[in-house]
Amino acid sequence: MNASSIDWRERAARLAVDGRALIDGRRVDAHDGRSFDCVSPIDGRVLGPVARGAAPDVDAAVGAARAAFEDGRWARQPPAARKRVLQEFARRIEAAREELALLETLDMGKPIRHALAVDVPATARTIAWYAEAVDKVYDEIAPTGPQALALITREAMGVIGAIVPWNYPMIMASWKLGPALAAGNSVVLKPSEKSPLSALRLAELALDAGLPPGVFNVVPGYGHEAGEALALHPEVDAIGFTGSTRTGRRMLEYSGRSNLKRVYNELGGKSAFLVFPDFDDLDRCAATVAGSMFFNQGESCNAPSRLLVHESIADDFARRVAAEAPKYRPANPLDADTVMGALVDEGQLQTVMGYIDAGVTEGAAVLAGGTQARADSGGYYVEPTVFDGVRNDMRIAREEIFGPVLAILRFRDEAEAIRIANDTSYGLQASVWSSHLDRAHRVARALRAGTVHVNQYDEDDITVPFGGFKQSGNGRDKSLHAFDKYTELKTTWLRINA
Ligand code: NAD
Repeated sequence: MNASSIDWRERAARLAVDGRALIDGRRVDAHDGRSFDCVSPIDGRVLGPVARGAAPDVDAAVGAARAAFEDGRWARQPPAARKRVLQEFARRIEAAREELALLETLDMGKPIRHALAVDVPATARTIAWYAEAVDKVYDEIAPTGPQALALITREAMGVIGAIVPWNYPMIMASWKLGPALAAGNSVVLKPSEKSPLSALRLAELALDAGLPPGVFNVVPGYGHEAGEALALHPEVDAIGFTGSTRTGRRMLEYSGRSNLKRVYNELGGKSAFLVFPDFDDLDRCAATVAGSMFFNQGESCNAPSRLLVHESIADDFARRVAAEAPKYRPANPLDADTVMGALVDEGQLQTVMGYIDAGVTEGAAVLAGGTQARADSGGYYVEPTVFDGVRNDMRIAREEIFGPVLAILRFRDEAEAIRIANDTSYGLQASVWSSHLDRAHRVARALRAGTVHVNQYDEDDITVPFGGFKQSGNGRDKSLHAFDKYTELKTTWLRINA
């Protein structure tokens, strides 16, 4: 698919969005008719009204999801039948790729070429992968004595509340939807108020594909209204949450205050990228850290935002990285050759600029960027920014910025590199670059992170678990391990008379 063969601006100009909720198979306004404006960060234009869901809307959606689960219209279909519906869902996502990519780009500002080449295919593949998996996973029989048979089976949990962020709206939703739906659950999805549009279309496509009404509902709205109501709801059995560590804490509180629903948190990161002087291709290394850091405007939980370089090569390597930054200059996301788009909203722009100010105030040196860009567009853009001379106690090294800001730190030896890398409350990802086999393995083992990359950063696949140590969360999205989150393990003892 070639993004450049399409006039995206013309398509954007005539796009009509439908921001109504989708509950029990029908598009509906919020119960009290309230809505909020969906604003495009590309130019500040209002895309349309979106239903402002609140507790009564969540109640209706959870009620529909519960009814669907209890009557077995989905949960009790054979796995092979659920597979066929979800495969068709994936096909329809693929078929709607241009529309979905455009919605994603307009809603949260990422370049259309990435929405088309990454977000839509990854979403379709996730749904297809879980569809294909569900009639291939077997249960277990325990090795007990001759008088009994002990079955260990997995059962769908019931109603899953999925609460997701705005940085990869469709992909994050699919990481919950794929395993939850394949396992037979019903789902109520609460997309971010900053990016609700693609989730609503996904739910329509699922219905078209044959998913029974009530099985997949979407309630847009604010976190403290729709999100809180969903996480507190007594009829929700588990929450699959992706978002900030701050909100993840709340999810655990909501669970404690309500029905002890399972909470699976996928949270923030401050991932370390360690470069040793023995690595033999520093140009590729510099290009990789810049590419991974500035992809998606730096709004990636796993962005390698702390670059740790051995002091003997640090000056040279910092220059190479700074030279990469201008390749990521922000431009209109609707232009097919744009590689960095807009930050999601004015608030995020202010947050990122605040961190840049803090870096300067605390004494770090700006090697590239450091300023707002394209202000006259009416949208929210920041130049790719590289700080050198960062200490690990500075705010730009400790806090997740979630914008295109890279911090370079220096280390003297391997032990110090590991110590600095692990000196963080997060533990999502890390990377070690060394041509020395022993060192690469040794350091990879010592790094406290859910994923460690060696001599690369970009490998990713639905087949591997994704998630973090420490305050980056619990549970894992993706891979067969994700079924653990949306199923209960049951033991059934049967007596056998000899
Ligand atoms: P956020 O926590 O502000 O919001 C995430 C979701 O939670 C949104 O749908 C929001 O409406 C909802 N929410 C907010 N406050 C709530 C409340 N009080 N009660 C219930 N729901 C509430 O996060 P964000 O700014 O949308 O996303 C950015 C964060 O997501 C970053 O920290 C990033 O690292 C993280 N993230 C993590 C992963 C991962 O897999 N670990 C992936 C992507 C993003």
